[in-house]
Amino acid sequence: MHINTTLNYSPNFNPKKRKFKQIKFIIFHYTGMKNEKEAIQRLTSVKSKVSSHYFIKNNGELITLVPELYVSWHAGISSWQKYKSINKYSIGIEISNPGHDNNYKKFSKKQIHSILKLSKYLIKKYNIKFVLGHSDIAPYRKKDPGEKFPWKYLSTNRVGLWYDLNEKKLSKVRAVKVDKHDENKFLKNLYKIGYSRFLPTDKYKNKRLLIKAFQRRFRQELINGLIDKECLLISNNLTKT
Ligand SMILES: [Zn+2]
Repeated sequence: MHINTTLNYSPNFNPKKRKFKQIKFIIFHYTGMKNEKEAIQRLTSVKSKVSSHYFIKNNGELITLVPELYVSWHAGISSWQKYKSINKYSIGIEISNPGHDNNYKKFSKKQIHSILKLSKYLIKKYNIKFVLGHSDIAPYRKKDPGEKFPWKYLSTNRVGLWYDLNEKKLSKVRAVKVDKHDENKFLKNLYKIGYSRFLPTDKYKNKRLLIKAFQRRFRQELINGLIDKECLLISNNLTKT
């Protein structure tokens, strides 16, 4: 398989090359900036100290910012299952989108086409285990790529985890409250899936952020940070062995 990409190297990466086998994650981001050119400038400027391996433009074109075997600086403080500092283990993909603070918009068809093509290429090449969003590995700090990201569509093409439940039935228990016991069961499921159990400072606020991260990934129709029956059933299904 071949991918078409333009080179526009960023200086923001670790000079030491990593081993091929160390790459286990794909992490998706949105740029969170209105202007695409400015977003590329930021990711390639020494001052910003941020980068990613790939950048997907509004028109679907792909740019390589950092070669895959170098650690790029996209994830920050992050964790998933037993893994910490996910930069070390991941390929970071930035997608042009103004984000929640600037009129968050749908990803374009051309972008989605490129996301799928690039993901399939990387999954095959590195035998990638985890395909996640920034908010999954840093739920207390990040919202990207957000609830408009096409997780369900990607999963039908065998990219990323999804559940196996009847959606119509599920939607009937949306916003249906659950008891304390079920709330705890849901949170346990989250930790089992891979979300961090470490709640920094404000426990109440951070629990809601964790629930929102789950919703942005698996229940995009309602992002309210509250555990309901639909969320519980999805999490049960995802942890079923
Ligand atoms: Zn991000």
